[in-house]
Amino acid sequence: MPKNKSPIWHPFTQHALQDEMTRVVRGNGAYLHTADGRRIIDAISSWWVVTHGHCHPHIVRAIQEQAGKLNQIIFAGHTHDPAEEVAAQLLKFAPPGLEHVFFSDSGSASVEVALKMALGYWHNVGKQRIRIVVMQHSYHGDTIGGMSVGARGVFNEAYGPLLFDVISVPFPATGREQDTLDALELACRNEIPAAFIAEPLILGAGGMLMYPAWVLREMKRICEASDVLFIADEVMTGWGRTGTLFACEQANITPDIVCYSKGITGGTLPLAVTLCRADIFDAHYSIDRTRTFFHSSSYTANPVACAAAKANLDLWQDPNTRQRVAEIAVMQEKAIEPFRADARFGNVRRTGTITALDLKTSDSGYLADIGPKLQAFFNNRNLLLRPLGNTIYVLPPYCATAADFDEIYAGIWDAADALAGRNALRAEKPEASVC
Ligand code: PLP
Repeated sequence: MPKNKSPIWHPFTQHALQDEMTRVVRGNGAYLHTADGRRIIDAISSWWVVTHGHCHPHIVRAIQEQAGKLNQIIFAGHTHDPAEEVAAQLLKFAPPGLEHVFFSDSGSASVEVALKMALGYWHNVGKQRIRIVVMQHSYHGDTIGGMSVGARGVFNEAYGPLLFDVISVPFPATGREQDTLDALELACRNEIPAAFIAEPLILGAGGMLMYPAWVLREMKRICEASDVLFIADEVMTGWGRTGTLFACEQANITPDIVCYSKGITGGTLPLAVTLCRADIFDAHYSIDRTRTFFHSSSYTANPVACAAAKANLDLWQDPNTRQRVAEIAVMQEKAIEPFRADARFGNVRRTGTITALDLKTSDSGYLADIGPKLQAFFNNRNLLLRPLGNTIYVLPPYCATAADFDEIYAGIWDAADALAGRNALRAEKPEASVC
């Protein structure tokens, strides 16, 4: 068994099975450059965060300038221009009706904040609403609250005693959408929950499962009719991924609370926000200190991260960015089209700039060996792809070119060929390429 007893304990990594880490020394645009001289296409935007490409000069410049001016300040009782500018601009971009912005530093933290805001709201208006409704297969992060409202499985089994109970409604699979809506309606009526949390349009880590905008709209309507807060977790779907700046736009809804992170800094520095309606803020606004929103982290609204976010927002004011997103969606559709006719693949799907397809194999499921095997195969092809079990998805930075897509999808074809052949997924040693 290969051993890699690294002093660094890497996330979501089984060190006993990991041959060696790919050592990355530089990134530019859609590419990563490794210590052994390879150029890798970042086909998953480095865990879905890098939107405009690695080391985008406008964002790099903003970070450099801010780092020399003010690089940290306690955010309780203090404020600063980058945070004020980001908040003002975000409220212009976000669905209408959201009026307050709470900063944190990861997607998981933004979800914790959303859950606390929801419970804090009901507590402060004097109503007993404490339960959370969730959607099957969801992923909302790895903190205790995030895991509690996410899917349960082997990956959080050991921590079960720490997690709180939730009410789960089924994922709205094609043809079964009404079941989800009925279950949600029933839960809202019978359980009088505090909130319903959902990833809009795409459930990311749960398998890149996609559902239509009309279901999202209906879910919001049901929550509204029952006075249940609707929390949209746009940590993955935000920043153009679904084809619009935010997924909720496609359903023409305003969630009561929404979480954004990942691409908020263009994938440069950790930052997150939770936006909410005025009445949620107002329920905490009082001369009575016990009604304070009791949440913070040391780096809340770090000025350098906020400057990066501000630079990202600048880029989104440029119509070329949205144009680029539309072009990526078209290139993605063209690229997956041939896979629809190939019997080795199932559920070939796309929402906006994200595609996913399931490689048909008996070895399926989240922890199936096929996932790491495919990943190693792709790494040897100088592609950063990280399948979820047998689900391969492609989600590159918006600067990826048609040639990059050709390389990515050729790699996926070849993986299927290799799987069908006897040398299942054993690829050649990676080759150094010109950087
Ligand atoms: N919510 C969703 C929908 C996500 O996809 C993720 C991460 O993938 C998270 C929350 C957690 O974000 P982070 O990894 O930044 O804590």
